[in-house]
Formats: sequence, C-alpha cells, structure tokens
Amino acid sequence: MNNKLNVGLMGINGYYTTYVESYRAAASIYGLNIITNPIVQVNVDKGLSVEGILKTLSGEKSHDTYYSLYVIYDDIKDEKGIRIFGIADPKLRIAVLSEHRLVSDVKLARERIMKEAAHLFGHFLGLGHCSTSECIMSYAAELKQVDGKNPMLCRNCQQQLKLFLEK
Ligand SMILES: [Zn+2]
Ligand SMILES: [Zn+2]
Repeated sequence: MNNKLNVGLMGINGYYTTYVESYRAAASIYGLNIITNPIVQVNVDKGLSVEGILKTLSGEKSHDTYYSLYVIYDDIKDEKGIRIFGIADPKLRIAVLSEHRLVSDVKLARERIMKEAAHLFGHFLGLGHCSTSECIMSYAAELKQVDGKNPMLCRNCQQQLKLFLEK
C-alpha cells in the first residue's frame, strides 16, 4: 500500500475521538486511509495558540503514516486569539482539529466533523480556501458556516485537486 495515502488519527491531552467513521468518510473523498492510533497521545499546554501546538507536534517522532491528524477536545485559537475549528500544515503534514464546538450538537456532530476533517485533508493535498460557501474548502469560523457546506468539494476544487494529484 502507498504510505502517502495514510493518515494517522491521534489524540491530544488524553482525548480521543468517538467519531472515527466521520474521519474515514472525510478521507475517502480523497482516496486517503485513516489509520487509528488511539494509543499515541501528545500533551500540549492549555492555552497554546495553534502555532505553539503545531510546533509541539512537529517535534514528535513521525509515525508510520504520511499525514498526522491530531484531535483535541478543547477550543483552539489562531495567532489573533480567534477560535478556529482546525489547522493544517501541508509542509509538516500535520493537522489539528478541535471537536469542542463540532460535537456540541450530538445529532449534527458526525456531519460537522466529517466536513471540517475533509477541509483539513484538502489543505494537506494542496487546496486553498474556496469562495463558494457550499464547498468543503470554504473557510468556516462559525457552526452555521459548517452547516451551510455540502459534504463535498465544489467542481472547481475537484478540478484543482486533480491537477495537484497529477503533479
Ligand atoms: Zn482552511
Ligand atoms: Zn471549492
């Protein structure tokens, strides 16, 4: 199996997701595989900005997967102190997703996690933010923006993805 297609799913500060199926669904859009790694746990300081979190995670030994997605329960904030759902660093091949707000409504949690995980995987594969609000790759700051997305890439992003994958 091509290692480049594997995404390790790991936890932060003792948390691990109960929504593995949502991550699998998100990965399947891109033909990626989720390798669950509940035992791998990283501790990060509470209140760290995402830069600090990514820095901590980049110091971790790489695992037998090409990409690493860490799930954290707490809210995470960008450098301006604004709450964000997640961040992906394509160069480090590391992403972090905060489930705090996404799981706040049990009925919607699966779909919300799927959409935001798919968003991060899109960044891994080279996609930027999309101006079509229904697209997975549109930037969401609030839950209502997550809910306004379709669980798929818009046609434009699909074409871009094809170009990136052919490179
Ligand atoms: Zn984004
Ligand atoms: Zn798009």
